[in-house]
Amino acid sequence: MNVSKGLWRNLVPHRIEVFVWLALLGKVNSKEKLARIGIIPQSENYCVLCNEATESCDHLFIHCHFSRGLWNWWIGLWGLCWVSPSSTYEAFKQWSGPTHGKFLNKIWTAIFFIIIWTIWRERNSRCFENKSSSIAQLQTLILLRLSWWINGWGDSFPYNSDDIIRNPHCLRWDERLSKGTPRTLPKIPNTWSPPSSTTLKWNVDASLNPIEKRSSIGGVLRDCHGTFMCLFSSPIPPVEINHAEVLAIHRAIKIFMAHEHLHQYKLVVKSDSDNAVKWCSNLKPGPWNLTFILNYIDMARKKGMGIDITYKGRESNTVADALARQGLRRQDEFVAWL
Ligand SMILES: [Zn+2]
Repeated sequence: MNVSKGLWRNLVPHRIEVFVWLALLGKVNSKEKLARIGIIPQSENYCVLCNEATESCDHLFIHCHFSRGLWNWWIGLWGLCWVSPSSTYEAFKQWSGPTHGKFLNKIWTAIFFIIIWTIWRERNSRCFENKSSSIAQLQTLILLRLSWWINGWGDSFPYNSDDIIRNPHCLRWDERLSKGTPRTLPKIPNTWSPPSSTTLKWNVDASLNPIEKRSSIGGVLRDCHGTFMCLFSSPIPPVEINHAEVLAIHRAIKIFMAHEHLHQYKLVVKSDSDNAVKWCSNLKPGPWNLTFILNYIDMARKKGMGIDITYKGRESNTVADALARQGLRRQDEFVAWL
């Protein structure tokens, strides 16, 4: 079968194209395959996404109800429905979007790759790191990956990742229609400003649900091109909002400190709590019960890596805010490198 038709379009990184090609050929090392050749016991060949069936390639990518949750979400966004394909290869053959627009067509192709890749990464993090994400978190991750890779296509697509997550329908954008005629979608205002080329920027946020007595934090790390590098979203013990903002700043700095390849950059952390920023920057003494955390932040700042913690003022922080709110529904921490 000619699976390569429509496959090598350079819309996503090559390693992902190669991976999807193997998936279409059924050549991914599924647990069913590993058990068949005796690498793992038969009793361990089950799917970690649903714990209900044998993990064959087609089950994992297409038939598993967890994976179907992702496909149906994307297809449902466009008001379409999908006749269940019999295999990953059939799914790829049938895969087509709602309209004929050139840009949307590329989006649909890219999304096929991204969903397959996201399922595979989730399966691996469950198998090897004992970490799992919900369908809602993976949906955000899919849109983030998409928005990242769109940047490399050279289209004059006017929206950024915040816009895409808030309103995926902005992907209906059509270059031809956007020339000369008014755009069908109003530009969503975005006030996020990129850091300099030698700096990375964390936007962090905290969220409280006083009724359920839950708190959570979230953050997103971006470079000077606005490219997403890392995100986190995690529940924390119920605390007062400024306290929660300090924990968000602390988490962001800890992730930065733990990854040496990032240390070639300076770091700016943006928070929308003036108090938290002052406590973390040593401009104002912080509460006693935060001493341990504030000391860590202070120590990191004094290591001379150029860590700057600032109040975000009017900068919009939709992604960090959304990640913080997602954390309220989580049982444990979610950290993703994109
Ligand atoms: Zn499954």
